[in-house]
Amino acid sequence: ELSIRVRDLNLWYGDNQALSGIDMDVYQKNITALIGPSGCGKSTYLRCLNRMNDLIPSVRIQGMIEMDGRDINGKKMDEVALRRRVGMVFQKPNPFPKSIYENVAYAPRMHDLVSRKSDSDELVERALRDAGLWEEVKDKLNDPGTSLSGGQQQRLCIARAIAVSPDVILMDEPTSALDPISTATVEDLMDKLKQRYTIITVTHNMQQAARVADYTAFFHLGEVVEYNDTKTMFANP
Ligand code: ADP
Ligand code: ADP
Repeated sequence: ELSIRVRDLNLWYGDNQALSGIDMDVYQKNITALIGPSGCGKSTYLRCLNRMNDLIPSVRIQGMIEMDGRDINGKKMDEVALRRRVGMVFQKPNPFPKSIYENVAYAPRMHDLVSRKSDSDELVERALRDAGLWEEVKDKLNDPGTSLSGGQQQRLCIARAIAVSPDVILMDEPTSALDPISTATVEDLMDKLKQRYTIITVTHNMQQAARVADYTAFFHLGEVVEYNDTKTMFANP
C-alpha cells in the first residue's frame, strides 16, 4: 500500500532552506496532488524523489526518503536504477528532437528492456496506446515528436515516461501549458494510469486537485501544512 515514506526531510539551496521537516507517506496506485503558493517547495520536493536536485551543486539534503522500503536518498541506490523506477513529466512538453517512435523506444533500449526490434515495436505501441495516443500517431511514427500539437506532445511525454514501467510518475504542473480540452484529456489519462502507477502531481489549480487527486498535500513556506484525502481536505472551510 505504501509507496514512498519521507521522514524529517530538510533541504537547503546554499543558506536558503527550501524544505523543512517534511513527513509524508505516499500511497501506491493513487494520485497525490501537491498544492500551495509559488515558491513554497513543491518542485523541490518532487525533485527529491528522483534525485534531480543532485544536479544542483549548492544543494544539501537531510532526512529519509524510502521507496518501497529502500532508501533512495543515500548512495545505496544508483541513479540509473532510480530513473527506471521514477518517471517524470514536466510542465512544458519536452519531446526529444527525434521521431515519435524514438521518443518512446529510447529509454527501454537504454535500460536493456528490449533487444529485438519486434519487442521494441510492441513496447512502443503499448506505451502509446496506454497514453491514448496510438490511433493519432500510428501512421506517422517517424515524424518528429515536436510536429505534434501541445496536448499530443504531452501525451507523448507520458508514453515516454511509462515505457520503462516505472513505479512512480512525477508530474510537475503537467497541464498548465495546455488548452482546456487537452487538459481534460490528460486528466482522464491520469485517472486511468493510477490503476497501475503511483502518481504525484504538482498543480497550482485547486479545482484540478479536487478533480483528480485521491490525496492532497498543501505546502507553505517549505512545510507540508496539511495532508489528507482530497475529499476531507476540500470539505474544510
Ligand atoms: P514551488 O515549486 O512551490 O514553486 P520551488 O520548489 O520551485 O517552489 O522553490 C522553493 C524555494 O527554493 C524558493 O525559494 C526558490 O526560490 C528556491 N529554489 C528553487 N530552485 C532553486 C535552485 N535551483 N537554486 C536555488 N534556489 C532554488
Ligand atoms: P528541465 O527540462 O527542467 O531543464 P533538466 O535539465 O534537469 O530538466 O533535465 C533534462 C532532461 O532530462 C529533462 O528534460 C528530461 O527529459 C530528462 N530527465 C531528467 N531526469 C529525468 C527523470 N527522472 N525521468 C525522466 N526524464 C528525466
